[in-house]
Amino acid sequence: MSSDAVNAGSPVKEEEARPSNFIRDIILKDNETGKFGGKVRTRFPPEPNGYLHIGHAKSICLNFGLALEFGGECNLRFDDTNPCKEETEYVESIIEDVRWLGFDWGDRLFYASDYFDQLYEWAVELIRQGNAYVCDLTPEQVREYRGTPTEPGKESPYRNRSIEENLALFERMRAGEFPDGSRTLRSKIDMASPNFNMRDPVMYRILHAAHHRTGGKWNIYPMYDFTHGESDSIEGITHSICTLEFEDHRPLYDWYLDQLGIHHPRQIEFDRLNLTGTVLSKRKLLALVEKGYVAGWDDPRMPTLSGLRRRGYSPEAIRLFCSRIGVSKTNGIVEHSLLEHCLREDLNVRSPRVMAVLDPIRVVIENYPEDLVEQMDAVNNPEDASMGSRSVPFSRVLYIERDDFREDPPKQYYRLAPGREVRLRYAYLITCTGVVKDPTTGEIAEIHCRYDPATRGGNAPDGRKVKSTIHWVSAAHSLDFEARLYDNLFLPDSDREESEDFTACLNPNSLEVRAARIEPSVRGAAPGTRFQFERLGYFCVDKDSAPGKLVFNRTVGLRDTWAKIEKSQKRS
Ligand code: ATP
Ligand code: MG
Repeated sequence: MSSDAVNAGSPVKEEEARPSNFIRDIILKDNETGKFGGKVRTRFPPEPNGYLHIGHAKSICLNFGLALEFGGECNLRFDDTNPCKEETEYVESIIEDVRWLGFDWGDRLFYASDYFDQLYEWAVELIRQGNAYVCDLTPEQVREYRGTPTEPGKESPYRNRSIEENLALFERMRAGEFPDGSRTLRSKIDMASPNFNMRDPVMYRILHAAHHRTGGKWNIYPMYDFTHGESDSIEGITHSICTLEFEDHRPLYDWYLDQLGIHHPRQIEFDRLNLTGTVLSKRKLLALVEKGYVAGWDDPRMPTLSGLRRRGYSPEAIRLFCSRIGVSKTNGIVEHSLLEHCLREDLNVRSPRVMAVLDPIRVVIENYPEDLVEQMDAVNNPEDASMGSRSVPFSRVLYIERDDFREDPPKQYYRLAPGREVRLRYAYLITCTGVVKDPTTGEIAEIHCRYDPATRGGNAPDGRKVKSTIHWVSAAHSLDFEARLYDNLFLPDSDREESEDFTACLNPNSLEVRAARIEPSVRGAAPGTRFQFERLGYFCVDKDSAPGKLVFNRTVGLRDTWAKIEKSQKRS
């Protein structure tokens, strides 16, 4: 992994980090031999049964990225073969998310359901060839007959029906004459095959259900395995890139394409993304939404693209991450901190800095005139001079972080304490003269300080140094806001992937809400606007913001443990 560009302040360049990639090598070879006439056409084929997550982003970046790189095309195709779990809401969210990630499918938006007529014809053709039959076994019996990894399966008693009988029965299945689950159309391959997928897999099932696109037209629906390869073929896909679990399905896809004698894409499998600290199973994500553990698919704690977007992730950061992780032939797990590292790298360059106080305590500058307000000049982004500067109002009463003051400072604590001088960022040096305590609770209510008027801008003319610079806002000028601070959705080291009751692994403290203060320059910032809060992290305006109500999500903190780990690994 290259870390040269890390923290160098240069704009993120995805190409820099592009690792060698075995899929690209295969395509290069195919182009050399002219296998597909030098053409590259890929597709991203989601099933519209949930929102996209960061794992999907890996597949999107791969498929669209390769098409872009080779001057080819990438289709967006909904593999919508299961009417019971699919909804238009999901279709719309997927379209929005792929666009947001920065990819364009031109006019090539397709649906597997557009191919239902063609698939039906091909099923009839396979029956005519003697390669498919209508089976009356129940789903349980089909499972029983399938055998085990060590024992071959048993042939269905309906396997040798005549072609005429099969054609007639399949037609009647389509016409809706039989109840759900009473019959299936199966391919006639090999019940003794060591590959389960080849043991006469089901091609069509009876399902009297309305489909989000074809409505009530069909009473039978093709199985995913009978649909996917043929859909790729119809679209003239050259390289059908999918995750490793489909490796065992490849012989079946090959078999269908060969029996039908139609265009045959090359299927290439790569590793699914797994991330520490979260789950990437649509079933589990749906459960979190449905059971109300999160506030929806776009809850900023969700690993969905809509959640990450709302949290403040940029598409660039996600694309950078996807190029950094690369692809391989073995499944592994990627540290969540790598995702955050890519995020910081991008946000560092693009985010204007502002000052906000998450846990405010009042500071009174005793020798500062009551009615004076000065505008302090503050740099918007030290990484990018073109972002200019802004004015931040300074006055007699300020807020600082409660944690930036200690009445009794421990060793190594250099921030504000009685008698100690510190720098207020972009303003003055101040010295603490004492505290005022709440008479009932004994808690510090107010910190009193004096400022040195000769230190405007933060430097003393006599060259004396202070050990610490802290941020602040003016009490009278700052705005109230709600800060939403997120932690991992799951407890560390929980076996959320394995355990059935994965909700037991949820982190009860994954959301903390604070009443906080921020400098007035952010007034009116639209939802999605990103800032770096000095010393605190990256934040973005949440969609719950409204006139008079400002809500910020903490996107990510400033500390980058990954860089440290990487550095120490390099050294050793
Ligand atoms: P399910 O497991 O519920 O079938 P899925 O995660 O496979 O869902 P799809 O909608 O079928 O979801 O996925 C669309 C595409 O995204 C597929 O090509 C799939 O291989 C890819 N994909 C899904 N999850 C990941 C992941 N974690 N890493 C990489 N690619 C993924
Ligand atoms: Mg799938």
